[in-house]
Amino acid sequence: MDSISDTEIRFRCLACGAVNAMEPSALACRGCGLRLVDAHGVFHLLDASSKAEERAFYDSAYAGSSAEPAKAPITSLRELWDRADAPQNQLLYRVTGDLSGKKVLLIGNGASRKELSFLEQRPLRLVYSDLSPNAGQAIQKQLDFLPYQAVIRFAAIDAENLPFEDASFDVVYGHAMVHHLPDVERFLRGVKRVLVPGGRAVFMDDAFSPVWHYSKQTWLKPLMKYSHRKTGISPEDYRFSMSGGFKESELAAMMTGLGLQPFFQRACLLDYLWTRAAVKLLPRRLYTPLTSGLPMRALVRLDQALGRLSWYRGNQIRLVWGFTKA
Ligand SMILES: [Zn+2]
Repeated sequence: MDSISDTEIRFRCLACGAVNAMEPSALACRGCGLRLVDAHGVFHLLDASSKAEERAFYDSAYAGSSAEPAKAPITSLRELWDRADAPQNQLLYRVTGDLSGKKVLLIGNGASRKELSFLEQRPLRLVYSDLSPNAGQAIQKQLDFLPYQAVIRFAAIDAENLPFEDASFDVVYGHAMVHHLPDVERFLRGVKRVLVPGGRAVFMDDAFSPVWHYSKQTWLKPLMKYSHRKTGISPEDYRFSMSGGFKESELAAMMTGLGLQPFFQRACLLDYLWTRAAVKLLPRRLYTPLTSGLPMRALVRLDQALGRLSWYRGNQIRLVWGFTKA
C-alpha cells in the first residue's frame, strides 16, 4: 500500500477506521474498500444517521442549483469581501490573515463563495466542507476550480464529528455556522484536535446585542414575524435569532476551559439595521442603490467611529471570534 504524503489531509474511514488521504485519486477506503468520493469529487465523510433532518433541509436547498453557462473565475470573488452592505467581511478577512502555504479547513461553507478566493493566496490545501454533499457539487457548477485542482478538496462532514486526523490544519474557518450547532463545546474540542499547535480558528456569528435583542422582543416583534413568514428562516437560525446571539463571556469561558486563547472583535450596528430594513421592508430593486455607494460607506465609517465607544461596541451585531491553540 502506498504511504500518504505529508501534504495530504488525512481522515479516518467511518466504517473501518483506516487512515485515508484526501487525494483526487483516492476513490475507495484503503481499509474496507468503501466508496468515499462521489461523481463530483466530493468526499462523503459522515455516517448516514448524523443530523438526518438538518441534512435533508440543506440537501434539498442545494440540489436545485443548475450549471451556469460559464463558470466564474476564482479571481472574480475577491471583491465580495469589500461589499459595502457587509462590512464585517473586511474584518473577517483581516483576522483570518495570510493563508499562503497553509492547510485550511472551511466548515459549513454552504453557498458562500467569497471564501474560495482564499485559493488566490496559494494555501497548501483548502478543504471546502459542508453538512450537505450537494453544496460541494453546487459550487463546482458555478466556479472554475481547474487552476486549483492540486489545492482544493471538497467534503461532506459533520462539524461535531470531524473525521480528520489530529493536527491536520493550520487554520479552521467557519462563516455563520457555529450558531447552527447544538453542542458548541463539543465542536470546539474537535477543532482544537484537528489544529496544529499554534493553529487558529476563525469564526463569524451574530453577537448578543441588548438593543437589538430587546427591540425584537418588543416593538419590532410583529415585523420579525412578518419577515420570517415572508423570506423564510432555517430552524437553527430561528432558534439562534430568538436566543439573541453569542455572548463573549460565555464563549471565552468555554474556550479558556479547553486551554485555548480566545479573541473577539465586533462590527456593525447602525449599518446592520439599515441593510436589514432595506432587505426586509423595501422593494428588491431599491436594495442595491440604498446599500452601496457613498451614503452606505459613510454609514459604515460612522459605525466604525462609534465602535470605539464601549457601550456601542457592546451592541454591535457581527462577532468575529475564535482562538489560537497554544
Ligand atoms: Zn474503511
